[in-house]
Amino acid sequence: MIEVEGFTKSYDGLAAVSDLSFAVQAGEILGLVGPNGAGKTTTLRAIAGILRPTRGRITVAGHELEREPVAAKLALAYVPDTPHPYDLLTVGEHLRFTALAYRIEDSEARAGPLLAELELLEKRDALASTLSRGMQQKLAIACAFLREPRAILLDEPLTGLDPRGIRDMRESIRRRAGAGAAILISSHLLELVEKLCHRVLILHRGARLALGTLDEIRAAAAIHRDATLEEAFFAITERGPSPPS
Ligand code: ATP
Repeated sequence: MIEVEGFTKSYDGLAAVSDLSFAVQAGEILGLVGPNGAGKTTTLRAIAGILRPTRGRITVAGHELEREPVAAKLALAYVPDTPHPYDLLTVGEHLRFTALAYRIEDSEARAGPLLAELELLEKRDALASTLSRGMQQKLAIACAFLREPRAILLDEPLTGLDPRGIRDMRESIRRRAGAGAAILISSHLLELVEKLCHRVLILHRGARLALGTLDEIRAAAAIHRDATLEEAFFAITERGPSPPS
């Protein structure tokens, strides 16, 4: 559903991401992890069509971003790490605006259950400017989910949520994957990534260090079978992946 081939993004000749390739299948949740500056946001923004790759090819739902940008962008939703709601629209109006922009016909029927799922129903008539940071984050995710996109890109979706919000958001994300969406999540919360994601991609200094299930990541880290993702992450980012045997 999401295919990235040889993606490179350079700024003034310096590569923020180099020759990165990976794919996310329908129904799969892929975790994108890496130290600060590894290139996670750059990768998500390029897939969202906000940044133009210096080199490489990105395809979403069969549409190559360079050749069919509108079709590719219609198939995906991108939620950045910092929410930017419209201060003077209410929560309900955000959903109606999204429905009008994307021509979603049954949005009214979808909006109520979606707001209930994300614990925003009581805030339906509240202005976005009066919401807490975590609620604004949930509103941005509600607008993304309303569209039922085939690919969903989430940059740090759990930051700012309370413990219950984190648990419920994990379930909401799983539900979308269960319905067939391909989901790419960037996060520093390795324990949550371990619980939520089917596979993990470790980026470091713009390069792919490891990609696979937790077992495959452990093997790449040459670490014991019960190691957590955090242990494998440090082993890989601090001493590099072991060569395949
Ligand atoms: P974090 O975990 O801190 O959010 P990240 O993995 O998302 O980091 P990016 O924001 O993708 O990292 O940045 C990757 C690299 O690209 C960094 O070295 C950053 O300084 C550089 N970079 C990002 N945007 C620009 C820009 N507009 N101009 C120049 N360099 C940039």
